[in-house]
Amino acid sequence: MAKLLITGGAGFIGSHTCVVLLEAGYDLVVLDDFSNSSSRALDRVIALAGITPSESSAKRLVTVPGSINNSLVLEKVFREAIETGQPIEGVIHFAGLKAVGESVADPLRYWHVNVGGSISLINVMAAFSCHTLVFSSSATLYGYPDQVPIPETAPIQPINPYGHSKAAVERLLNDLAASAPGQWRIACLRYFNPVGAHASGRIGEDPLGIPNNLFPFVSQVAVGRRERLQIFGGDWSTPDGTCVRDYIHVMDLAEGHKAALDCLLTEAPQLLTLNLGSGRGISVLEVVNAFGQACGQPVPHTIVDRRPGDAAITVADPSEALRRLGWSTRRSLDDICRDGWAWQSANPAGYGQRG
Ligand code: NAD
Ligand code: UDP
Repeated sequence: MAKLLITGGAGFIGSHTCVVLLEAGYDLVVLDDFSNSSSRALDRVIALAGITPSESSAKRLVTVPGSINNSLVLEKVFREAIETGQPIEGVIHFAGLKAVGESVADPLRYWHVNVGGSISLINVMAAFSCHTLVFSSSATLYGYPDQVPIPETAPIQPINPYGHSKAAVERLLNDLAASAPGQWRIACLRYFNPVGAHASGRIGEDPLGIPNNLFPFVSQVAVGRRERLQIFGGDWSTPDGTCVRDYIHVMDLAEGHKAALDCLLTEAPQLLTLNLGSGRGISVLEVVNAFGQACGQPVPHTIVDRRPGDAAITVADPSEALRRLGWSTRRSLDDICRDGWAWQSANPAGYGQRG
């Protein structure tokens, strides 16, 4: 089975995707600097995938601590894979920074890691003739969307440095593919709102500090780590006045990565750009109520002013991913809340460590 490099594989989406890929038989090298994750996540990934020490977890999942900005570390990863007789055949590139507010305050860091780190990775891939890449893009590219559901053909109009960094890498990948027709196999996957956790409750989202995003905030209120959720705006032009998003279970998203990778490895070289979302709009109040059902008590909340930069409604048109990959989401909002609660209630302080 093929060996893959997973950058940022210890993070929220990466760790869930590693479980799916290990179960499918792929061998993995995870490169992560643990700036926003814990190595405990990878220990649990190995256990969840049913890999025993006798089966040599070292061969199935090798962890390399290091940064995508460090070409020497990247070169070592590719060289050592060749020396073991199993070169890296493809890369899933999750590593990056993702906090919108932080990107506004420190754009240089975001361009350095998200754009500079991607360039460093792609350079080393090219040097080792590895031309298969799945890139974590984002629905944030669409900014304030002109149409909903949003198709991949909608205008790219990011409204913050984080979104600009994702748009820049997508642009680079399109230029690269055009420069060498028939060579690169690339998928830019535009995620909508990834939430939930592995159904075991063993791995999940573990944000540093006060969560910026709705779902981890709601979970932390439910588990008693925070007092009350603030809902940003109750006067939007939506059915219940709160914003509508396309929440996607992280295991559906993980399966979408496997589908994209399988497609790239089997079809002719191409560049795919796909929305990964459910196509189902859910309001903030619907999330809060469903989570209350899952955890067995109402989640305290107050409606406050709108948050700058929010759009009223963002929902994916996911039909292209179904057409090209045969993939669509399978899990409901109730599944999302049940699994998210399984993780949060069993791990009230997350993994309890960074690094
Ligand atoms: P995450 O922060 O949990 O995971 C990112 C991982 O990358 C972490 O383990 C972190 O330690 C690592 N990392 C950061 N900088 C690195 C570097 N220089 N070198 C090596 N490793 C580094 O985030 P996530 O939610 O799992 O997101 C994964 C990817 O998906 C990111 O690129 C993010 O921008 C993108 N994305 C996330 C969302 C979301 O809402 N979670 C939505 C759309 C796109
Ligand atoms: N939201 C909220 N309270 C919070 C965090 C988020 O009401 O503490 C709302 C936010 O205004 C948006 C929705 O929840 O309407 C999803 O926000 P999130 O930050 O999770 O995702 P994104 O803005 O990227 O869609």
